[in-house]
Amino acid sequence: MKAAVWYGAKDVRVEEREERQVQSGQVKIKVEYAGICGSDLHAYHHGVGIQEGQEHPLSRQKAPLVLGHEFSGVVAEVGEHVSGIEKGQRVVIEPLYHCGVCEYCLHGNYNQCVDFGFVGLNSDGGFANYVVVEAYMVHALPDEVSFEEGALVEPTAVAMHAVRHSSLKVGQKVVVYGAGPIGLLTVLCAKAAGASQVYAVDIFDERLQLAEKLGAIPVNSSKVDATEVINRQSGGIDVAFEAAGVQPTMDSAVSIVKKGGQVVVIAAIAEPLKVDFFQLLVKEATVTATLAYRHIFPEIIALIAAGALDVKQVITRKIELDDIVEEGLELLLSDKSHAKILVKIGG
Ligand SMILES: [Zn+2]
Ligand SMILES: [Zn+2]
Repeated sequence: MKAAVWYGAKDVRVEEREERQVQSGQVKIKVEYAGICGSDLHAYHHGVGIQEGQEHPLSRQKAPLVLGHEFSGVVAEVGEHVSGIEKGQRVVIEPLYHCGVCEYCLHGNYNQCVDFGFVGLNSDGGFANYVVVEAYMVHALPDEVSFEEGALVEPTAVAMHAVRHSSLKVGQKVVVYGAGPIGLLTVLCAKAAGASQVYAVDIFDERLQLAEKLGAIPVNSSKVDATEVINRQSGGIDVAFEAAGVQPTMDSAVSIVKKGGQVVVIAAIAEPLKVDFFQLLVKEATVTATLAYRHIFPEIIALIAAGALDVKQVITRKIELDDIVEEGLELLLSDKSHAKILVKIGG
Protein backbone atom coordinates (compact mmCIF):
# COMPACT_ATOMS: atom_id res chain seq x y z
CA MET A 1 0.00 0.00 0.00
CA LYS A 2 0.98 3.65 -0.27
CA ALA A 3 1.71 5.61 2.93
CA ALA A 4 3.16 8.93 4.15
CA VAL A 5 5.88 7.83 6.56
CA TRP A 6 7.63 10.05 9.13
CA TYR A 7 11.38 9.39 9.35
CA GLY A 8 12.45 12.61 11.03
CA ALA A 9 12.11 16.39 10.99
CA LYS A 10 11.52 17.57 7.38
CA ASP A 11 11.64 13.93 6.28
CA VAL A 12 8.21 12.52 5.42
CA ARG A 13 8.23 10.10 2.49
CA VAL A 14 5.30 8.85 0.45
CA GLU A 15 6.34 5.27 -0.23
CA GLU A 16 5.26 1.65 -0.48
CA ARG A 17 4.72 0.07 2.92
CA GLU A 18 3.53 -3.35 3.96
CA GLU A 19 0.04 -3.55 5.45
CA ARG A 20 -0.05 -4.53 9.12
CA GLN A 21 -1.68 -7.81 10.13
CA VAL A 22 -4.91 -7.61 12.10
CA GLN A 23 -4.46 -9.06 15.59
CA SER A 24 -7.14 -10.11 18.05
CA GLY A 25 -9.25 -7.12 19.13
CA GLN A 26 -8.22 -5.08 16.10
CA VAL A 27 -9.85 -3.84 12.90
CA LYS A 28 -8.35 -2.89 9.53
CA ILE A 29 -9.71 0.29 7.95
CA LYS A 30 -9.56 1.28 4.28
CA VAL A 31 -9.00 5.03 4.64
CA GLU A 32 -11.17 7.45 2.64
CA TYR A 33 -10.24 10.95 3.92
CA ALA A 34 -7.59 12.06 6.41
CA GLY A 35 -7.07 15.58 7.74
CA ILE A 36 -3.73 17.29 8.38
CA CYS A 37 -3.46 18.51 11.99
CA GLY A 38 -1.22 20.97 13.81
CA SER A 39 0.50 18.06 15.52
CA ASP A 40 1.36 16.58 12.11
CA LEU A 41 2.99 19.93 11.31
CA HIS A 42 4.95 19.83 14.59
CA ALA A 43 6.11 16.30 13.80
CA TYR A 44 7.13 17.27 10.26
CA HIS A 45 8.71 20.66 10.92
CA HIS A 46 10.23 20.14 14.38
CA GLY A 47 10.42 16.37 14.73
CA VAL A 48 8.43 16.39 17.98
CA GLY A 49 5.53 14.32 19.29
CA ILE A 50 6.40 11.10 17.50
CA GLN A 51 7.11 7.76 19.17
CA GLU A 52 10.87 7.41 18.81
CA GLY A 53 13.53 5.24 20.41
CA GLN A 54 11.33 2.77 22.22
CA GLU A 55 7.98 1.26 21.38
CA HIS A 56 4.79 2.72 22.75
CA PRO A 57 3.54 0.44 25.56
CA LEU A 58 0.10 -0.06 23.99
CA SER A 59 0.70 0.14 20.23
CA ARG A 60 4.07 -1.69 20.43
CA GLN A 61 5.25 0.52 17.56
CA LYS A 62 7.89 3.22 17.04
CA ALA A 63 9.17 5.46 14.24
CA PRO A 64 9.39 5.37 11.29
CA LEU A 65 5.60 5.66 11.49
CA VAL A 66 2.75 6.60 9.17
CA LEU A 67 1.29 9.99 10.22
CA GLY A 68 -2.44 10.85 10.37
CA HIS A 69 -4.97 10.67 13.20
CA GLU A 70 -8.04 12.42 11.75
CA PHE A 71 -9.61 9.96 9.36
CA SER A 72 -12.70 8.20 8.09
CA GLY A 73 -13.02 5.03 6.07
CA VAL A 74 -14.57 1.62 5.58
CA VAL A 75 -13.97 -1.52 7.65
CA ALA A 76 -11.83 -3.87 5.51
CA GLU A 77 -11.15 -6.67 7.99
CA VAL A 78 -12.30 -7.57 11.49
CA GLY A 79 -10.02 -9.44 13.92
CA GLU A 80 -10.95 -12.14 16.41
CA HIS A 81 -12.86 -11.22 19.57
CA VAL A 82 -14.39 -8.12 17.98
CA SER A 83 -18.16 -7.71 18.09
CA GLY A 84 -20.49 -5.06 16.72
CA ILE A 85 -18.23 -4.06 13.81
CA GLU A 86 -18.75 -5.42 10.33
CA LYS A 87 -16.74 -5.50 7.13
CA GLY A 88 -17.94 -2.77 4.74
CA GLN A 89 -19.21 -0.49 7.52
CA ARG A 90 -18.54 3.27 7.18
CA VAL A 91 -16.60 4.43 10.21
CA VAL A 92 -14.56 7.15 11.86
CA ILE A 93 -11.70 6.46 14.25
CA GLU A 94 -11.25 7.93 17.72
CA PRO A 95 -7.47 7.65 17.66
CA LEU A 96 -6.65 7.47 21.39
CA TYR A 97 -4.78 4.51 22.85
CA HIS A 98 -5.69 3.87 26.47
CA CYS A 99 -4.96 0.97 28.79
CA GLY A 100 -8.38 0.60 30.40
CA VAL A 101 -6.97 -0.40 33.79
CA CYS A 102 -5.13 2.62 35.23
CA GLU A 103 -6.71 4.91 37.83
CA TYR A 104 -7.70 7.46 35.16
CA CYS A 105 -9.18 4.93 32.75
CA LEU A 106 -11.13 3.32 35.59
CA HIS A 107 -12.72 6.70 36.29
CA GLY A 108 -13.65 7.01 32.61
CA ASN A 109 -11.08 9.74 31.96
CA TYR A 110 -9.27 7.73 29.31
CA ASN A 111 -7.72 10.85 27.73
CA GLN A 112 -5.69 11.09 30.96
CA CYS A 113 -4.47 7.45 30.73
CA VAL A 114 -0.91 6.88 31.97
CA ASP A 115 -0.15 5.20 28.62
CA PHE A 116 -2.12 7.71 26.53
CA GLY A 117 -1.11 7.75 22.88
CA PHE A 118 -2.35 8.66 19.41
CA VAL A 119 -2.78 6.57 16.31
CA GLY A 120 -0.60 8.35 13.74
CA LEU A 121 1.90 9.65 16.32
CA ASN A 122 2.46 6.63 18.57
CA SER A 123 1.52 4.05 15.90
CA ASP A 124 0.97 3.88 12.15
CA GLY A 125 -1.83 6.28 11.20
CA GLY A 126 -4.28 7.22 8.49
CA PHE A 127 -2.20 8.78 5.72
CA ALA A 128 -2.19 5.37 4.01
CA ASN A 129 -4.54 3.12 2.07
CA TYR A 130 -5.01 0.92 5.14
CA VAL A 131 -4.55 1.29 8.87
CA VAL A 132 -5.00 -1.22 11.70
CA VAL A 133 -6.65 0.17 14.85
CA GLU A 134 -8.06 -1.17 18.11
CA ALA A 135 -11.74 -2.11 17.93
CA TYR A 136 -12.53 0.26 20.83
CA MET A 137 -11.53 3.20 18.60
CA VAL A 138 -14.16 2.54 15.93
CA HIS A 139 -17.38 4.61 15.65
CA ALA A 140 -20.06 4.01 13.01
CA LEU A 141 -20.69 6.84 10.56
CA PRO A 142 -24.34 7.29 9.53
CA ASP A 143 -25.16 7.78 5.84
CA GLU A 144 -25.97 11.48 6.38
CA VAL A 145 -22.35 12.17 7.37
CA SER A 146 -19.89 12.23 4.46
CA PHE A 147 -16.38 10.79 4.66
CA GLU A 148 -15.05 14.37 4.46
CA GLU A 149 -17.12 15.36 7.48
CA GLY A 150 -16.06 12.12 9.15
CA ALA A 151 -12.43 13.19 8.90
CA LEU A 152 -13.38 16.35 10.82
CA VAL A 153 -14.96 14.57 13.79
CA GLU A 154 -11.62 14.29 15.63
CA PRO A 155 -10.62 17.99 15.62
CA THR A 156 -14.24 18.94 16.31
CA ALA A 157 -14.14 16.64 19.34
CA VAL A 158 -11.13 18.59 20.65
CA ALA A 159 -13.08 21.84 20.34
CA MET A 160 -16.33 20.49 21.77
CA HIS A 161 -14.58 18.83 24.72
CA ALA A 162 -13.14 22.25 25.61
CA VAL A 163 -16.58 23.87 25.28
CA ARG A 164 -18.31 21.17 27.35
CA HIS A 165 -15.57 21.32 29.97
CA SER A 166 -15.94 25.10 30.23
CA SER A 167 -18.41 27.06 32.36
CA LEU A 168 -20.20 28.40 29.23
CA LYS A 169 -23.97 28.82 29.62
CA VAL A 170 -26.56 29.58 26.95
CA GLY A 171 -26.56 33.28 26.11
CA GLN A 172 -23.08 34.03 27.40
CA LYS A 173 -20.32 35.76 25.46
CA VAL A 174 -17.16 34.08 24.25
CA VAL A 175 -13.83 34.96 22.69
CA VAL A 176 -11.66 32.47 20.80
CA TYR A 177 -7.96 33.31 20.37
CA GLY A 178 -6.48 31.76 17.23
CA ALA A 179 -8.51 31.12 14.07
CA GLY A 180 -6.69 27.99 12.92
CA PRO A 181 -8.71 24.77 12.52
CA ILE A 182 -9.21 24.19 16.27
CA GLY A 183 -10.10 27.86 16.88
CA LEU A 184 -12.58 27.84 13.99
CA LEU A 185 -14.19 24.63 15.20
CA THR A 186 -14.35 26.12 18.72
CA VAL A 187 -16.31 29.04 17.22
CA LEU A 188 -18.77 26.54 15.71
CA CYS A 189 -19.04 24.52 18.93
CA ALA A 190 -19.50 27.60 21.15
CA LYS A 191 -22.30 28.80 18.87
CA ALA A 192 -23.89 25.34 18.90
CA ALA A 193 -23.66 25.42 22.71
CA GLY A 194 -25.66 28.65 22.78
CA ALA A 195 -23.12 31.47 23.03
CA SER A 196 -24.80 34.76 22.09
CA GLN A 197 -21.63 36.42 20.79
CA VAL A 198 -18.39 34.75 19.71
CA TYR A 199 -15.37 36.94 18.96
CA ALA A 200 -12.47 35.46 16.99
CA VAL A 201 -9.01 36.99 17.43
CA ASP A 202 -6.16 36.35 15.00
CA ILE A 203 -3.49 38.31 13.10
CA PHE A 204 -4.36 36.93 9.63
CA ASP A 205 -7.32 38.45 7.79
CA GLU A 206 -7.87 35.32 5.65
CA ARG A 207 -8.45 33.24 8.77
CA LEU A 208 -10.68 35.89 10.28
CA GLN A 209 -12.81 35.91 7.12
CA LEU A 210 -13.38 32.19 7.61
CA ALA A 211 -14.23 32.78 11.28
CA GLU A 212 -16.74 35.41 10.23
CA LYS A 213 -18.37 32.96 7.80
CA LEU A 214 -18.80 30.60 10.74
CA GLY A 215 -20.61 33.30 12.69
CA ALA A 216 -17.82 34.92 14.70
CA ILE A 217 -17.13 38.63 15.09
CA PRO A 218 -13.60 39.01 13.69
CA VAL A 219 -10.94 41.06 15.48
CA ASN A 220 -7.46 41.49 13.98
CA SER A 221 -5.14 41.95 16.96
CA SER A 222 -2.29 43.16 14.74
CA LYS A 223 -4.40 46.17 13.77
CA VAL A 224 -6.43 47.00 16.88
CA ASP A 225 -6.20 46.49 20.65
CA ALA A 226 -8.33 43.33 20.76
CA THR A 227 -8.93 43.48 24.52
CA GLU A 228 -10.15 47.07 24.39
CA VAL A 229 -12.31 46.60 21.27
CA ILE A 230 -13.99 43.42 22.51
CA ASN A 231 -14.57 44.82 26.00
CA ARG A 232 -16.20 47.89 24.55
CA GLN A 233 -18.40 45.94 22.11
CA SER A 234 -19.38 43.04 24.35
CA GLY A 235 -19.62 44.65 27.75
CA GLY A 236 -17.66 41.69 29.16
CA ILE A 237 -16.62 38.17 28.18
CA ASP A 238 -17.68 35.09 30.14
CA VAL A 239 -15.35 32.49 28.64
CA ALA A 240 -12.08 32.95 26.71
CA PHE A 241 -10.78 29.96 24.73
CA GLU A 242 -7.03 30.08 24.17
CA ALA A 243 -6.28 28.25 20.90
CA ALA A 244 -3.29 30.40 19.91
CA GLY A 245 -0.98 29.84 22.84
CA VAL A 246 1.28 32.89 22.81
CA GLN A 247 1.96 35.47 25.53
CA PRO A 248 -0.07 38.35 24.03
CA THR A 249 -3.20 36.22 23.61
CA MET A 250 -2.84 34.72 27.09
CA ASP A 251 -2.48 38.25 28.53
CA SER A 252 -5.56 39.36 26.64
CA ALA A 253 -7.56 36.29 27.74
CA VAL A 254 -6.75 36.85 31.41
CA SER A 255 -7.66 40.53 31.28
CA ILE A 256 -10.75 40.15 29.07
CA VAL A 257 -12.83 37.72 31.16
CA LYS A 258 -15.24 39.33 33.57
CA LYS A 259 -15.66 38.60 37.27
CA GLY A 260 -16.29 34.89 37.73
CA GLY A 261 -15.21 34.29 34.14
CA GLN A 262 -13.00 31.55 32.77
CA VAL A 263 -9.97 31.06 30.54
CA VAL A 264 -9.85 27.64 28.84
CA VAL A 265 -6.50 26.59 27.36
CA ILE A 266 -6.82 24.29 24.32
CA ALA A 267 -3.54 25.11 22.58
CA ALA A 268 -0.56 22.84 23.24
CA ILE A 269 1.77 25.59 24.45
CA ALA A 270 5.41 24.53 24.14
CA GLU A 271 6.98 27.41 26.11
CA PRO A 272 5.95 28.35 29.67
CA LEU A 273 3.79 31.50 29.62
CA LYS A 274 3.28 34.08 32.37
CA VAL A 275 -0.20 34.32 33.86
CA ASP A 276 -1.25 37.34 35.96
CA PHE A 277 -2.86 35.56 38.90
CA PHE A 278 -3.54 38.84 40.67
CA GLN A 279 -6.05 39.74 37.94
CA LEU A 280 -7.64 36.31 38.27
CA LEU A 281 -7.79 36.69 42.06
CA VAL A 282 -9.47 40.09 41.92
CA LYS A 283 -12.07 38.72 39.49
CA GLU A 284 -12.39 35.28 41.09
CA ALA A 285 -11.82 34.00 37.55
CA THR A 286 -10.51 30.53 36.75
CA VAL A 287 -8.04 29.06 34.28
CA THR A 288 -8.49 25.51 33.13
CA ALA A 289 -7.06 23.33 30.36
CA THR A 290 -8.36 20.44 28.29
CA LEU A 291 -6.58 17.58 26.55
CA ALA A 292 -8.07 15.95 23.45
CA TYR A 293 -11.53 14.54 24.35
CA ARG A 294 -13.40 11.67 25.92
CA HIS A 295 -16.89 10.20 25.46
CA ILE A 296 -17.83 12.70 22.78
CA PHE A 297 -17.45 11.14 19.31
CA PRO A 298 -21.05 9.81 19.20
CA GLU A 299 -22.42 13.27 20.06
CA ILE A 300 -20.23 15.02 17.46
CA ILE A 301 -21.33 12.53 14.79
CA ALA A 302 -24.99 13.04 15.80
CA LEU A 303 -24.64 16.84 15.73
CA ILE A 304 -23.13 16.73 12.22
CA ALA A 305 -25.82 14.29 11.05
CA ALA A 306 -28.50 16.63 12.43
CA GLY A 307 -27.03 19.62 10.60
CA ALA A 308 -26.20 21.38 13.87
CA LEU A 309 -22.46 21.57 13.19
CA ASP A 310 -21.47 22.54 9.63
CA VAL A 311 -17.88 21.39 10.03
CA LYS A 312 -17.08 21.11 6.32
CA GLN A 313 -16.84 24.91 6.15
CA VAL A 314 -13.34 24.68 7.65
CA ILE A 315 -12.05 22.60 4.72
CA THR A 316 -10.02 24.88 2.44
CA ARG A 317 -8.35 22.32 0.18
CA LYS A 318 -8.37 18.63 -0.77
CA ILE A 319 -5.16 17.01 -2.00
CA GLU A 320 -3.82 13.60 -3.03
CA LEU A 321 -1.60 11.48 -0.80
CA ASP A 322 1.32 11.87 -3.26
CA ASP A 323 1.25 15.65 -2.68
CA ILE A 324 1.01 15.64 1.12
CA VAL A 325 4.46 17.16 1.71
CA GLU A 326 4.41 20.02 -0.83
CA GLU A 327 0.70 20.81 -0.90
CA GLY A 328 -0.04 19.95 2.72
CA LEU A 329 2.72 19.99 5.34
CA GLU A 330 4.76 22.73 3.61
CA LEU A 331 1.82 24.78 2.36
CA LEU A 332 0.13 24.99 5.78
CA LEU A 333 3.19 26.68 7.22
CA SER A 334 3.66 29.21 4.42
CA ASP A 335 0.04 30.00 3.46
CA LYS A 336 -2.11 31.15 6.38
CA SER A 337 -5.24 31.36 4.24
CA HIS A 338 -5.67 27.62 4.73
CA ALA A 339 -7.50 26.00 7.61
CA LYS A 340 -8.14 22.27 7.27
CA ILE A 341 -6.52 20.44 4.37
CA LEU A 342 -7.93 16.97 3.71
CA VAL A 343 -6.01 14.20 1.99
CA LYS A 344 -8.22 12.14 -0.32
CA ILE A 345 -7.09 8.56 -0.06
CA GLY A 346 -10.03 6.34 -1.03
CA GLY A 347 -11.07 5.76 -4.64
ZN1 LIG B 1 -5.17 16.52 15.61
ZN1 LIG C 1 -5.21 3.92 31.38
